[in-house]
Amino acid sequence: MESAESPTATPAVRIEDLTFSYGEARFRLAIPDLSLDKSSQVAVIGPSGSGKSTLFDLLMGLQPNFGGTIRILGEDLYGRRESARSSWRLENIGFIPQNFALLDYLTVREQVLMPGKFLRGRDLTKTEQKADSLLERSGLVEMASSYQDSLSQGERQRVAICRGLAHAPRLILADEPTGNLDPETQRNITSMLIDESRRLAATLLMITHDHSLLSEFDQVIDVSKWSGKGDA
Ligand code: ADP
Ligand code: MG
Repeated sequence: MESAESPTATPAVRIEDLTFSYGEARFRLAIPDLSLDKSSQVAVIGPSGSGKSTLFDLLMGLQPNFGGTIRILGEDLYGRRESARSSWRLENIGFIPQNFALLDYLTVREQVLMPGKFLRGRDLTKTEQKADSLLERSGLVEMASSYQDSLSQGERQRVAICRGLAHAPRLILADEPTGNLDPETQRNITSMLIDESRRLAATLLMITHDHSLLSEFDQVIDVSKWSGKGDA
């Protein structure tokens, strides 16, 4: 690598002196220093209300009112205009929301292809190949033309994961992908996410409450050590 800073040395996430609060609300988050290696698998833990989803919003460029600096893959995301920030987010981040956010009127395959369809200059054939191999590895091929109402919770979660990954993002944010699933499905979903993000050489941040799964990850961050309520 000829650049002064080799790409592997640039962290996936670099936070310095971050302070954030919701307006007048009493919740606040203060992260003095956090660095997450590229291509690492990170579990994000902390009780309900400790700021895990807020941290994800900050990393996605959705919460501009904070102090300090946040760099994602070496980029000052908030230094960009909002429209440029959204297209950067779509291209580089794979978000797997807590409630799946699947659409009733699209088939499984159509949903998985959706993020890639909005990327300018992307070869759609590549996204289709990636989507089909993800569907295959996650046991969803037979359901590719089905709608979400005929799927189990575990299957819906796998569709949401495939949709988050088919456009080959560099950073994957999964908000409690195993909540409300039985223990065996939780383990399967976690392994799937870890395997697929390794395959993409992407960095994975996964929010989980299941501490028996933590040994699967390279790093565990506990958000509650950075959060607090008001001035009490
Ligand atoms: P977690 O994901 O760890 O459960 P959240 O990041 O969702 O926690 O929320 C952290 C805290 O911020 C909670 O006390 C929550 O009620 C509060 N909160 C979340 N979103 C907002 C908002 N938009 N406005 C005000 N307070 C919020
Ligand atoms: Mg949350």
